[in-house]
Amino acid sequence: MIAWNDIDTVLLDMDGTLLDLAFDNWFWQQVVPQKYAETKGIPDDQAHRLIKEWIDRHQGTLNWYCLDFWSAELGLDIAGLKREVGDRVCYRPGAEAFLQALRNSGRQIVMVTNAHPDALAVKKTHTGLEQYFDQLITSHELGSAKESAPFWEALQGRLPFDRQRSILVDDSLPVLQAGHDYGVGHLWSILHPDSTLPPRPHTNPFPAIDQFAHVTPGLVMPTAASARAHNE
Ligand SMILES: [Mg+2]
Repeated sequence: MIAWNDIDTVLLDMDGTLLDLAFDNWFWQQVVPQKYAETKGIPDDQAHRLIKEWIDRHQGTLNWYCLDFWSAELGLDIAGLKREVGDRVCYRPGAEAFLQALRNSGRQIVMVTNAHPDALAVKKTHTGLEQYFDQLITSHELGSAKESAPFWEALQGRLPFDRQRSILVDDSLPVLQAGHDYGVGHLWSILHPDSTLPPRPHTNPFPAIDQFAHVTPGLVMPTAASARAHNE
């Protein structure tokens, strides 16, 4: 169980944690290669191979998350393409009820995402998830991806928080590891980020959330400290 009484600040990832990663996987594995094949007049399988090579080369870097980089690299309007198909964006099961319970608990709720601001805008349009947060922070604003130590230093400058009394929930193991290295006290992973794939085998060192409903007990009554953190 999550030790909610020891937690004042909740840091939440977006894609694969609150929102179904099926959208992003489908977008990069189907929509982008198809559009690239059409635009360049090349066969589909060649486009799929090229896009996969590009993705493998840049994964985990800020470039990987940057729609402007991909637009320039591929000669496609990636943000526009995302907006076109944005109606397929959806919450993971139970995520919205979890967010509502967090909001009601009075804790400081912050989104920390590697998503590009244009991608975040698409997700906001189709889910309204910003209503549950005190702040939404993208790694683009801070200049480093969440996987890297400078992100965490910059986050502390932007958002004073007690790292020991904070929880990070994220489906990315390198991100959880970076949070751990920075000293975030509570780290939880996600068992089933993409609803169209089987749950991941739980082999990582961090506890994993299966159903959000299983981790909401104990959340309802805010501690005095959390009420303070929220009102500051
Ligand atoms: Mg994620």
